[in-house]
Amino acid sequence: MRTCFERVIPPGNGLAVGVNQGQLLRVVDLEGKQVVDMAVFNLDNLREKLSTSNSRNRYIPKPGEKYAPRDHLQKGDWLMSTLCRPMMTIVEETPVPVGVHDACNRMCDRFLYQVFYGIEKDGCHEIISKAVEPYGLLPEDIPDTFDLFMKYPHNCEKGHFEILDPVSRPGDYIEFRAEMNCLVAFSNCPYEACAGGKCTPVKVELYEDPDYVPQPILPPDEWRKQVLRLRQG
Ligand SMILES: [Zn+2]
Repeated sequence: MRTCFERVIPPGNGLAVGVNQGQLLRVVDLEGKQVVDMAVFNLDNLREKLSTSNSRNRYIPKPGEKYAPRDHLQKGDWLMSTLCRPMMTIVEETPVPVGVHDACNRMCDRFLYQVFYGIEKDGCHEIISKAVEPYGLLPEDIPDTFDLFMKYPHNCEKGHFEILDPVSRPGDYIEFRAEMNCLVAFSNCPYEACAGGKCTPVKVELYEDPDYVPQPILPPDEWRKQVLRLRQG
């Protein structure tokens, strides 16, 4: 596969990159235990964007599998948009176990740091806002992110979420295939508590997949009809 882009993101920095349909996007946790927040927009209509709720709850169960609303995403799952269309597919992830990423919560921001910790500091919301500013997007346009490598499970006994150390080891990665033309924005999260106490750099790589066969990108109503046909066999 041909690499068409690569960039190391230091902690507390952001990046926005266009990913064409069929291209593969890999995020490498260079030193391990680092969290990266990821926002996705439809590059051809920036109003359509990632919905982590739809991604968890509007997936298509495999034949014979019972539908159940989910609390996480893993290899094989789609990142779905606010219009319930697949934006990207998680095609590979190397941390063990798979599926340890946060798809339930809002990213860190100045509000969190100022109100809860009394410090003035940009969070992932401000970092991503700055990265997508050249595309005409505003802070209020940023959707809830998919938080790569973040271990933030809900503790049912205690009745709240809790931050645990990520399971990713040095060199572990997660890889996505774009199902439409996407604008993908990252923040290498500056919140030490999510990163085992120390924030470290990550790397973003973009590849062309020579074996990719272009698929039609259907409008929402056509897409729903296709899903129905697929489900009915
Ligand atoms: Zn963050």
